[in-house]
Parts: sequence; structure tokens; C-alpha cells
Amino acid sequence: MTGGPVHDLAIIGAGAAGLMAAAEAARLGLDVRVLEGQKEPGLKILISGGGRCNVTNARVSEKDYAAGCAHTLRHVLGTASPRAMVAFFEAHGAPLALQETGEFFSADDKARTVRDALVRAVRENGGRIDCGHRVNTIVTQDGSFNIVGHDFVITARAVIIATGGLSYPATGSDGAGYRLAQAFGHNIIPTHPALVPFIASTDTFGNISGITLPVRLSLWAEERKLRSVEGPLLFTHEGFSGPAPMEMSGYWLAAREKHGCAVRVDFLPDIKPDDTDFFLRPALAARSVKNILTALLPERLVVVLLGAAGVDAQRPAGQLTRDERKAILSALRAFALPLKDVAGYARAEVTSGGVDLKELKGATLASRLQEGLYFAGEVLDVNGRIGGFNLHWAWASGIAAARAVAKYLKGKP
Ligand SMILES: Cc1cc2nc3c(=O)[nH]c(=O)nc-3n(C[C@H](O)[C@H](O)[C@H](O)COP(=O)(O)OP(=O)(O)OC[C@H]3O[C@@H](n4cnc5c(N)ncnc54)[C@H](O)[C@@H]3O)c2cc1C
Repeated sequence: MTGGPVHDLAIIGAGAAGLMAAAEAARLGLDVRVLEGQKEPGLKILISGGGRCNVTNARVSEKDYAAGCAHTLRHVLGTASPRAMVAFFEAHGAPLALQETGEFFSADDKARTVRDALVRAVRENGGRIDCGHRVNTIVTQDGSFNIVGHDFVITARAVIIATGGLSYPATGSDGAGYRLAQAFGHNIIPTHPALVPFIASTDTFGNISGITLPVRLSLWAEERKLRSVEGPLLFTHEGFSGPAPMEMSGYWLAAREKHGCAVRVDFLPDIKPDDTDFFLRPALAARSVKNILTALLPERLVVVLLGAAGVDAQRPAGQLTRDERKAILSALRAFALPLKDVAGYARAEVTSGGVDLKELKGATLASRLQEGLYFAGEVLDVNGRIGGFNLHWAWASGIAAARAVAKYLKGKP
């Protein structure tokens, strides 16, 4: 089934990274073919940011990521500034709106507008996207690559693997890219789900699912505080979700085997620790603890926290013993979440781990093991915080790989 035209570049995967790589490569004049296993491109973009797509962030730096090689990360991020990304999407019909948090979302709150802008950018410059083309193997032949699927073989002079990780496999990212990389001898840094909800080990909070509130989470292990994260926490029927727990989940997974590992919640992150002992104020002495605390926190949560502290909710504040006050303050400011596990790849926003950056030629994202082979996006050992950082990595790495391919092909007879 070979014998068709030899394309300059084949890109495996029409997700955020593959589409951006294709747009950039086509703009640079390359003959680009994108092969996508799903029926339409960019399915994960469509569900990003709750369907509103948090495209990038006003401030992006290497500190927003976990990556296997800081040097490569820094140089790839230098390829595409947030400002350049805002200009790119604006130019292709998807203006972005800046939120107070520094996050840029699609201005019309529709992720589809972002996805369509990318597809347009690919096609405007003559790039071709073939959906329903799942790639099974890539083989080299006479200095080119034969990209083989169930009923097709496509030949190209260079390949970018942009197949994503393992998260939300329903969108098409099922880890196939790791196998394609391994076939060329690449090492895969062990993967685990990240930006994923927690599953609780008890039903302590079972009755209060649906409540969301701002918290500070701290990860403790071996009697040291390893990290703090602030943001909303959402109680769910199975555990804890929302930006703060999801951001903490990857760190917890990495530390969970350590002695004394715990995620502690401060339910009053905006109140200074010294100000919490309000039970001692004479004016409040006659009121019940529950009554006092419901001015600060949702009533159903207060009941649960007082239960955990072992204090009768109706007890007048003036009658609390020192130990009872201590127990309440501990429940309010350092509650150890009962954690069993995380929800798994099916509900993880990203995958931690992936193709080892040390086997790539720095910011070109070119394989050191196979000439003409490149990578982009989440398939690599890079994952970011919540806030537009993962899509920013997809854009930046897609552009970096496309530019490197253009340079490589120019220097090749
Ligand atoms: C629910 C959810 C919400 C998110 N929200 C945000 C957000 O608002 N902001 C943010 O920055 N990040 C967000 N993320 C993360 C972000 O969407 C991803 O990090 C990013 O889309 C990864 O892009 P990618 O192109 O590397 O991989 P993917 O988007 O996973 O794309 C990979 C593509 O490759 C295709 N593919 C895989 N294997 C093959 C094969 N063998 N042959 C052909 N095609 C193949 C897949 O079908 C898929 O289309 C979110 C993620 C999820 C799951």
C-alpha cells in the first residue's frame, strides 16, 4: 500500500499539540499530513476548562510545571509566549479574554471556537487532517517513515508524535504514543494520573457533596510540610475535587508511601492563625459553637467538623474546655483528609511522566535515537498546574517541534 506521495511531515494525533504543530509547519511551507484516530480533531480541547477552554495564562514559567529536564522545558516555553498565543488565536478568529486570575479563556466561553481556529490555521496553509486514521506502527525505510494503520500507509520524511498521554482515553489518548516511542528505543518515565480528584477512605464528608469553598491544602510527610496549594475544594459523593485537591493529587501520589503522608485542610485560609481563637471572646460566650462557626463556614460542614473534633455542636462557647477548643481549631485549620486513592486516568486532566526528555535534542524535541522523529505535547514527561499551563505546553512544544522539523528538512538533500 506504499507508493503514494512522500510528505514532508506526518503528525500523529490532532490534539492541541498536533494541531498547533501542523499549523506552524504548514505556515513554514511544509507539506503536512495529520493522522487522527478519532472521528474529529481536538476532542480534548472541546472539554477543556469545563467547555470554555483555558487556553493559556498571562504568566507562564518553568515553575508551573513538573518536567524531567528543566533546560528543555525552559527553552521550549521560550518558543511561544502567552502574548504570542493570544495573538495567534485572535488572528484565526478565536479572541481570548483575560480573567482576574491571569487565565485566558475563549472570549465567547466556547472551547469549540478555539478548536475550530486551530483547524482553520492548519487548512489555510494547505495542511491536511485525516480523521479516522489510527496509527499502529511507524517503520523507517530509505530515510523516510512509513506510517501504518489498519487500512493505510502514509510516507513522510519526518514525524511528530503528538498522541497525548493516558488521561481521558475517551478523547483518543490511550497511551499508544508511548508504544510508538518505545519501538524506536525510547524510555518512558513511569506515568501516573495528575490533576485528578481524590477518592475518600471514609464517608465522613459523604453528606455534604456539592459544597465548594476556598481552602489551603498542605501536603505533609516525614513531619515536614512539602507543599501548599490554595483554591476551591469541592466535596463530591466519592471524595474531594476542585482545583486545589486536583492540583495536590499528583504531589500526593508521589509522596503517599512516605511515613506520615497526609493532606491537611485549612478551612479558614484568609483568617490569620492567631485570630481563630474567637471562642474566648466574652461576647460569644453564650452562643453555641455551631452558631459561631456557621458565620464562617457552611452549616453542614460545621456539623461534620465538630463531629470529627468530638464536640457537641450545641455547646456554649464559654463552656468549652481547652482541649475541646484545641480539637475544634485543629479540625478547622489542619483537618487530615481521609484519602484512599485518586480517581484514575479516566478522570485525570493530565498524565505525569512520559517520553524521557533526556533522550531528546533539547528544545528541538528531536529524538536522539532516530533521525527525523520528533515529539510534542502531553506524550512527553511534562505536566503543568491548573490555569492554562498544560495547553500552553501543547502549543509551545508543537511550535518548537514544527520549527525544528522545518530546519531539519531544509538541511537535508
Ligand atoms: C477534562 C479536561 C479539562 C482540561 N482543561 C484544561 C484547560 O482548561 N487548560 C489547560 O491548559 N489544560 C487543560 N486540560 C489539559 C489539556 O487539555 C491537555 O494537556 C492537552 O489537550 C494535551 O494535548 P495533546 O495534543 O498533547 O494531547 P491530546 O489532546 O490528548 O491529543 C492527542 C490526540 O492524539 C490522538 N491519538 C492518540 N493515539 C493515536 C494514534 N495511535 N493514531 C492517531 N491518533 C492518535 C488522540 O485521538 C488525540 O486526538 C484539560 C484536560 C482534561 C481531560
